[in-house]
Amino acid sequence: MASQAVLTPRGKDFPQWFQDVVARAELAENGPARGSMVIRPWGYAIWELMQADMDRRIKATGVQNAYFPLFIPMSYLEKEAQHVEGFSPELAVVTHGGGQELAEPLVVRPTSETVINASFARWIQGYRDLPMLINQWANVVRWEMRPRIILRTSEFLWQEGHTAHATYEEAQAETMQMLEVYRAFMEETLGVAVVTGEKSPRERFAGADRTYTCEGLMGDGKALQLGTSHNLGHNFARAFDITYLSAQGTREYVATTSWGTSMRMLGGVIMVHGDDQGLRLPPAIAPHQVVLLALAEGEPARLVDKLAAELRAEGVRAHVDNRFHLSFGRRSVDWELKGVPVRIELGERELAAGQATLVRRDRRAKRPEPLDSVVRAARDLLDELQRALHEESLRFRTEHTYDASSLEELRARVGDGGFFRLAWCGSDACEEALGEGTGASIRAILSEDPVAPTCLVDGAPARCSVLVARAY
Ligand SMILES: [Zn+2]
Repeated sequence: MASQAVLTPRGKDFPQWFQDVVARAELAENGPARGSMVIRPWGYAIWELMQADMDRRIKATGVQNAYFPLFIPMSYLEKEAQHVEGFSPELAVVTHGGGQELAEPLVVRPTSETVINASFARWIQGYRDLPMLINQWANVVRWEMRPRIILRTSEFLWQEGHTAHATYEEAQAETMQMLEVYRAFMEETLGVAVVTGEKSPRERFAGADRTYTCEGLMGDGKALQLGTSHNLGHNFARAFDITYLSAQGTREYVATTSWGTSMRMLGGVIMVHGDDQGLRLPPAIAPHQVVLLALAEGEPARLVDKLAAELRAEGVRAHVDNRFHLSFGRRSVDWELKGVPVRIELGERELAAGQATLVRRDRRAKRPEPLDSVVRAARDLLDELQRALHEESLRFRTEHTYDASSLEELRARVGDGGFFRLAWCGSDACEEALGEGTGASIRAILSEDPVAPTCLVDGAPARCSVLVARAY
């Protein structure tokens, strides 16, 4: 079969391999404005499947979707800036509209935090209005100085959840519940093993009391933050004056949360599951779960149509590749690049033997399968693949998670990739020292139970175990 290298080998130049996969699998391409991106149909179909699955999980917790405006008055962000540190220069600002200079500049939403909180202030009056649970699917803009396709673009697609609660404890419970929704989605649907934990104060979202993260380990040993969930305490309630009348008749501030995931997760899927032949998609997010290819027109093509109909009747997303003007090898390579989990290939010879060839993408393994059982075999293979990709990701993470026994050892090894577990005293100075000369950072606080009695950096009594890695 045609298996000439069409991609830069993953082990040779990982960033170039990533770019190659994005281009050759026809996921996305750069847009005309720097930092913008065109999402091609194959990439968008994957995103739609991710979105539908995540949306179902979010709604199952009682959250409702709504939509808020793209343009936000500058004064809203200034109001936030008075209460929240870390007001950022990533904003895109509209100063003219309809040929006239605007009286007040409008910000293209970098997040809808402010406008949603302003709505909450109007919608929430009494304790019966709580909890208020809202999610939005939208595009947001954050001006990127160093854009990278899919991973860091100036405009990107995401979901942002915002909730308001009567008490701080309820907000904390919501924060943890959504972190778990994200973790389950990433492991079960994306097949990506993630570590969850709290962010250190320095990595915390501006305005949050507590920030929690899902961190994945990419194929090159770097971490990718795949989703975050924040307990905002009373910070935004004070900034936007969101209060409610309690059952006891007192006026109280609500406690709020926010949580988000973005199209960056697709970057994670590529970098966790991809190989030298291209993308490998977990069946749950594969636009075509099974592609059927007949070697020739006529009887094989007719049989392929019949098998595809049987697969669809069983709820499988099956696609027939009828591009007979292309060589069979070229067609197979195309679907390998695009990461289609299972292929059923049918030629005259197989047909004569009453068989089809069943190909699984993850291991690039082929086997003959009798025609009367190939539909069931393909369906079973999809379940098997979903499991196998997750197990592989889990194994990779386990094999690349190390205990660092000294700062020297960490500095010597962290550049080669992987997660490093170590004990930390909690000081800012030690956190900074961990990153000096290595570009590594604390990705998550794993537990209050330190792996060693003393801090790896300064030998002070340790307060917690943290995960350190270089990150995207
Ligand atoms: Zn320390």
